[in-house]
Amino acid sequence: MTSFHELKIDPIIISALSNMGFEEPTPIQEKTIPAALSGRDVIGLAQTGTGKTAAYGIPMVDRCQPDLPQIQGLVIVPTRELAMQVAEELNKIGSRKKIRALPIYGGQEIERQIRALKNRPQIIVGTPGRLMDHLRRRTVRLGQISIVVLDEADEMLNMGFKEDIEEILRQAPQRRQNLLFSATMPVPTQNLAREFIQNPEMVHIDPRAVTVVNTEQQYMEVPELKKLDVLCRLLDLQNPDLAIVFGRTKRRVDEIAEALSKRGYSADGIHGDLTQNQRDIVMRKFRNGTTDILVATDVAARGLDITGVTHIYNFDIPQDAEWYVHRIGRTGRAGEAGLAITFVTSREIGHLRYIEESIKHKINRKPMPTSSDALAGLQQAVVNNLLEVAGREDIQGYRALAEGLLEEHDSETLLAAALKILTREPQENPLPILTEAPPIHVKNLRNPREVNNGYGGYRRSSNPSRKKNHSRTPQRSY
Ligand code: ADP
Ligand code: MG
Repeated sequence: MTSFHELKIDPIIISALSNMGFEEPTPIQEKTIPAALSGRDVIGLAQTGTGKTAAYGIPMVDRCQPDLPQIQGLVIVPTRELAMQVAEELNKIGSRKKIRALPIYGGQEIERQIRALKNRPQIIVGTPGRLMDHLRRRTVRLGQISIVVLDEADEMLNMGFKEDIEEILRQAPQRRQNLLFSATMPVPTQNLAREFIQNPEMVHIDPRAVTVVNTEQQYMEVPELKKLDVLCRLLDLQNPDLAIVFGRTKRRVDEIAEALSKRGYSADGIHGDLTQNQRDIVMRKFRNGTTDILVATDVAARGLDITGVTHIYNFDIPQDAEWYVHRIGRTGRAGEAGLAITFVTSREIGHLRYIEESIKHKINRKPMPTSSDALAGLQQAVVNNLLEVAGREDIQGYRALAEGLLEEHDSETLLAAALKILTREPQENPLPILTEAPPIHVKNLRNPREVNNGYGGYRRSSNPSRKKNHSRTPQRSY
């Protein structure tokens, strides 16, 4: 495995990276950084979660000069969420070299951004619409830009930002370095690349070559109308810290999120019909653990770096092997263990085999959990909770009450009754999700290429996984 030193990265940047827990480059970083450092244009194609931000962030910070008070690097991203995330990571990479990055996005007061721009960041990370605003007001000038990145280029084009991007790039100097990073390369993205990128170094990390080392992959054969029931049982049994449930359409995402909430799980849905503001709220709640379960469409979950996800449930099997890898890549990252379970209807078994074949990885078959399995899981969670509270000081106020009860009643019976009250017993026959999953267009087995060359497995030394309390509010009336 190559080290950051071998990639000829400035030692001051390497020391910042090691501070971030980045010990060695990921495959996309290993392949794109040397070309970018040499000044070439680069197109980097790799799935979500492979470290694309640092792949362009490192060369960008390398190129910027801390003592020049002009914007030298520009990153264009599709959403506000990403602008914030990317700017944060660039600030970390640039911390030792004293390179500062500022996020610029719609929805935040423009006056505040104008004030922040007066601090002369060397890099700005902006969404196309807001960047256009600043260019019109002349509060951002691109005359000294030497390096431009289009991140999630495919997504920006999906969102209709083509004209804005073209206009922004026209205002940057002709002589500049261009980097384009994306998870997919559909035709419009190829066209954009052709328009702006010269003789690029193309780097493609085949998603099917990425082994998601830390994630246990399972599937269950579940009839469509039992999916919700089975999902609830799994949630009860496995009590995930943070879970993402993938549905195939926006309507289904809404329906699943609502059905889960009604049953007392803390779940929120996210998909492309939400406004940016709604998406921010959902994501904030999920990140800080207010909601444990995010129900998402593929597109909505793209590009978001969420740490601490322990479980992925594919309520609907993804269309494509690439999407499968994108989805399960959301968990088991950076040394953490993860579990991914895919629901498959009997008609979709062939499609599952196609996915297995493409990713060259066996997905283990598991039986559906029974309702008594689920009940046992819930009971265990309650017992754990009880034992934890029993170790705390703040139960003094209940001791007299307990003593009074024990004078007249048998302790075992009382404890059993308390446990029953605390356990949110699974409902029999919850209503199924009624919106139909669109049928899978079964693909011809593509000629599976040579895969599995060890890409994708990387660790970091520190593990900032966060802690949260496990309790889910029971919604039974007592
Ligand atoms: P992408 O843009 O490809 O979806 P990100 O840039 O968001 O991926 O990176 C995914 C996660 O991996 C982030 O938490 C990031 O901090 C982490 N990461 C990136 N590069 C490395 C590395 N070399 N070593 C360890 N962790 C890394
Ligand atoms: Mg990214």
